[in-house]
Amino acid sequence: MAENNLEINRRKIRMGMVGGGEGAFIGAVHRKAALMDGQIELVCGAFDEVPEKGREFGVEQLYLEAARSYGTYQEMAEKEAALPDGEKPMDFVSIVTPNHMHFPIAKTFLEAGFHVVCEKPMTISLEEALQLREIVNNTGKVFALTHTYTGYPMVKHAREMVTGGELGTVNKVIVEYPQDWLLTRLELEGQRQAAWRTDPKQSGMAGSIGDIGTHCANLVNYITGLEIEAVCADVNTYLPGRLVDDDANVLIRYKGGARGILHVSQISTGEENHLNIRIYGDKAAVHWNQENPNYLDVYPFGEPVQIYRRGQGYIHDLAKLATRLPGGHPEAFIEAFGNIYLAAATAIREAESGVKAQAALDYPDVDDGVIGMAFIETVLESGKSDRKWTPFKKF
Ligand code: NAD
Repeated sequence: MAENNLEINRRKIRMGMVGGGEGAFIGAVHRKAALMDGQIELVCGAFDEVPEKGREFGVEQLYLEAARSYGTYQEMAEKEAALPDGEKPMDFVSIVTPNHMHFPIAKTFLEAGFHVVCEKPMTISLEEALQLREIVNNTGKVFALTHTYTGYPMVKHAREMVTGGELGTVNKVIVEYPQDWLLTRLELEGQRQAAWRTDPKQSGMAGSIGDIGTHCANLVNYITGLEIEAVCADVNTYLPGRLVDDDANVLIRYKGGARGILHVSQISTGEENHLNIRIYGDKAAVHWNQENPNYLDVYPFGEPVQIYRRGQGYIHDLAKLATRLPGGHPEAFIEAFGNIYLAAATAIREAESGVKAQAALDYPDVDDGVIGMAFIETVLESGKSDRKWTPFKKF
């Protein structure tokens, strides 16, 4: 790929995908999200851990050319890197495999000269995350991490409220992400998403802490900028025989004095994806709930509660830029992913063409991934320790 390649600003950005084959969950969401704004096209992939299944899926279900529906990610990186410009090689890879494959795949594609969009948690250890950060910094490639919830307009509005001082000093944050889908040993029934998420070799040492806890920690950091100083964690595995945590309650001390409570659970009966965050400043508080994401409740101290609505004129510009439909026509999960893809595509155009982007490059990156892995390792360490406070891992 040529540097200062102005041609990239006259065409779609070309995506390849690793993972997301037949029956996979998030790969199909990524494909819809990436393509929704007409900025990105899917040109190739290695979609399945079983090479033949992946090749067939790409050709028969995604209508890709047979030559570009690859059996393995290694073959894909090698062949795409060797394609001449005229044959339209991909610009970036989207990694939507289980966690243990994120690092080797990201490394392979970065070193072959491609930009990367990667699922969370970024790697399966802090050590891998630090290596990946070095590779990203050395290659100068764009690396976007899909912490989906940062893509919601009302989350961006909350961030702008904090940045603009509308909440005053943030004293306390409560974030929770309860689910109930692992209340039985679904992993023993052949349910694929449960099977790898409860296998430490594929998921990493954490279960719920990695799968949904990293989203919570990232969301707090994205909205408030608060950095964790120390944690006191009670990490639990309710289901006998399960090899990773399925529930955790964490007290958090943030640098600067704010305090937090973070709770995640995959055994909380009746809960679906009840990610909920409350941020208490000394002037006002905000509450946001991802199951009702087009609204942000604002509680100015001593005044009546206000409900801010996506799509209205009074919403901050960062949130307006992340909005596609008028108020009252709900937007949610797929659009939030779409916003991360849009920002990543803009960053790729900027990186390749050398022309400064007009729009905000607002997406989670490799540094957020490092923080996420430090969060997992600190919480797991605290869960095993009798000490009250465990300092946040240094990186
Ligand atoms: P899944 O099991 O449904 O799908 C994984 C896919 O990866 C499958 O098609 C599998 O065949 C493929 N795969 C595995 N190894 C491969 C390899 N070496 N080469 C090519 N393909 C390979 O998993 P999922 O639930 O879609 O999760 C995938 C990733 O997305 C995980 O890291 C998970 O944490 C993350 N995720 C993120 C969100 C979010 O909100 N950001 C939501 C769900 C999942």
